Amino acid sequence: MSSDTAQAVLEVDLGAITANWQALRIRHPSGSVAGVIKGDGYGLGARQVAAALHAAGCRHFFVAYLDEALAVRDAVPSAMLAVLGGLIPGTEDAYVAHDLTPVLGSLDEIARWRGRGREAILHVDTGMSRLGLDARELAVLAHDRARLDGLAIRYVMSHLVASEMPDDPLNQIQPQRFAAARAMLPPAQGSLANSSGIFLGSAFTSDLARPGAALYGVNPTPGRPNPMRGVVRLSVRVLAVRDVPTGATVGYNATWTAPRPSRIATAALGYADGFHRALSGRGSACFDGTPVPLVGRVSMDLTTFDVTDCPAVQPGCWLEVLGPHLSPDDVAAAAGTNGYEVLTSLGRRFHRVYRTA
Ligand SMILES: *Cc1c(COP(=O)(O)O)cnc(C)c1O
Repeated sequence: MSSDTAQAVLEVDLGAITANWQALRIRHPSGSVAGVIKGDGYGLGARQVAAALHAAGCRHFFVAYLDEALAVRDAVPSAMLAVLGGLIPGTEDAYVAHDLTPVLGSLDEIARWRGRGREAILHVDTGMSRLGLDARELAVLAHDRARLDGLAIRYVMSHLVASEMPDDPLNQIQPQRFAAARAMLPPAQGSLANSSGIFLGSAFTSDLARPGAALYGVNPTPGRPNPMRGVVRLSVRVLAVRDVPTGATVGYNATWTAPRPSRIATAALGYADGFHRALSGRGSACFDGTPVPLVGRVSMDLTTFDVTDCPAVQPGCWLEVLGPHLSPDDVAAAAGTNGYEVLTSLGRRFHRVYRTA
């Protein structure tokens, strides 16, 4: 498949991703900045993103699962590659064989990793209640330090609950809980901020920030101008254009009725491509910078747009669905979700093009 034959082209600007990483480094002078590449690099291609960040000097990477780490290990030689999801029993040898860093979040995980003579990250829970050592487990470790014998703690980390909302009271509490937890453990470097945490001020700086979304252009400061560069452009073909009279309905369940004689463009995109059905009647696309409203239902492979005011739209034209005029955050707002889900939903049918400049 080439861009000529493709019905949809997803362009990923790796240069913008590395520029975003450099910008985050300037915002986080207290320590290093990792690249979080879980979820296949937030839907954009973990191997490509990892290789680009590695070439730019990034030496710390995080994925969610062991399999994700195995898929990118050779793209980031000798860099720290940490698995956030913890150490599933029986996988210890794979971590050793591939020089992976487990993120340990329970006494049992610590017990199984101790004595391997390898580094680990200790995860302490400060409010998320998903993974990480809880208060009881921390107390056990504090009273019985021998349980940490033989463990090389590379970082102690925690994860923020509401960092994209600066006024959330948890942003006061979590750094305090993190400091208290670290005081109960042997001295080690810390890792706290995700993307939005980097923008919360000095209480959130640490030895290693862990941004994901901001690298990929999602706004880490919602409600304020986006400090990051956009990195994706999704262009889809117009398959057909037709004139419909006043009163004609468009799409499944006739949810849209033409209020005037209208031109409807049917585009090669649907919910099978991760274009959320919730965008039905709410989303939009852009033709040559001019917005065209989405009308009717998003179906599996087709989406309809009202191009009455855009006479230049013809079959074979490209509509921009994500890009300079429509950010992942814009699409997310229309779909009732966040930019993370828009990116990680991006489908497998697109022709993908990676740009490096
Ligand atoms: C996903 C994740 C991150 C990255 O979060 P962003 O909001 O995308 O920057 C950091 N740390 C942990 C533990 C995560 O799960």
